[in-house]
Amino acid sequence: QEISSEDVMHREEKFSAHNYHPLPVAICKAKGVHMWDMEGRKYLDFLSAYSAVNQGHCHPRLLAALQEQASKLTLTSRAFYCDLLGEYAEMATNLFGYQKLLPMNTGVEGGETACKLARKWAYMKKGVPDNQAVIIFAEGNFWGRTMSAISSSTDPSSYKGFGPFMPGFKLVPYDDLEALEKALEDPNVCAFMVEPIQGEAGVVVPKDGYLKGIRQLCDKHNVLWIADEVQTGLARTGRRLAVDHEGVKPDILILGKALSGGILPVSAVLANDDVMLCIKPGEHGSTYGGNALACRVAMEALQVLEDENMAQNAERLGNLFRDELRKQLPQEIVTQVRGKGLLNAIVMNPEIDAWEVCLHMKEKGLLAKPTHGHIIRLAPPLVITEEQIKQSIEIIVRRTGCL
Ligand code: PLP
Repeated sequence: QEISSEDVMHREEKFSAHNYHPLPVAICKAKGVHMWDMEGRKYLDFLSAYSAVNQGHCHPRLLAALQEQASKLTLTSRAFYCDLLGEYAEMATNLFGYQKLLPMNTGVEGGETACKLARKWAYMKKGVPDNQAVIIFAEGNFWGRTMSAISSSTDPSSYKGFGPFMPGFKLVPYDDLEALEKALEDPNVCAFMVEPIQGEAGVVVPKDGYLKGIRQLCDKHNVLWIADEVQTGLARTGRRLAVDHEGVKPDILILGKALSGGILPVSAVLANDDVMLCIKPGEHGSTYGGNALACRVAMEALQVLEDENMAQNAERLGNLFRDELRKQLPQEIVTQVRGKGLLNAIVMNPEIDAWEVCLHMKEKGLLAKPTHGHIIRLAPPLVITEEQIKQSIEIIVRRTGCL
């Protein structure tokens, strides 16, 4: 008996916790920029699993790496050395220009790791009194769902009902260097953690010079700059990293999502020895962190981004995409088109229900999700072609125009 999309949705609702509100579409297959539902309907994926599938769904080189490694060695734990962790760490540190890599699994674990590193550095190197370290975050940030992540959140749906919260966290407005400078005057501040573009907040792009300004202020006040590039990194914004747009380098870099191209959870924290060696054996880790399968897939995922010039493709098609949408979208419905590379959003007039727009687009074969009610993020896999981008523009314009 054939299982329908309805059946799939009903079963998931019945037996799986209701911690998400999915678009009513049930996917059973995906390849490149496309996904298929239970009835064989084909869609363009304009979410890319929140930018995890930059390399495209089921990339053949990633599948080959996964399959080959899976039959050899998957997990040793860090109780032993494994032949691939050093090779992977060497490759990634060379690519991004750091001395060390600390492997974890999910993006939020990367954020937790960065915060622990910053606190340890505060006590060992900066001379902050015990248990007094402060980490600054930007309002509107999103870095996951752990207790620490929600403790720095300004979004009530993230934190409400989950207190008490982690102490030692402070907030400043995003894209506000003056406020940051003021906050950094506190000698107990050890780090400023920030996304170069705020993804979940609705693809909020800061003014040119913000990242350079952060670098200068953090240097001036002996504070570590932690860049959360879990969503913006790995070619998504048209550069290998979003910080490359301003030619600056954070002290701590967090990567995740596309580090495995959607194959399995892989995240990493990169830093130089001065910071990274503050954590000693036994002080941090994860059973699956740095597992052989993840190392092998991550190496291939990074290499595929380079070999297929995905940053350049994201830059070129992103410019085309925004230019056309700005020209063609009705201004009484869409008030702003913003983004960098292929991380983009359309901001609708607040009276418009973005969820409805997404349902309309789904009917015409394009899958995207609203963030914050009236904003729709548009972030296809970076393997998308010019022809597919043009096809998508037509769907987006027609569907928003017919409301
Ligand atoms: N950091 C940023 C910027 C993110 O966008 C996300 C997820 O959306 C995370 C961290 C958390 O990643 P994960 O869901 O893998 O824990």
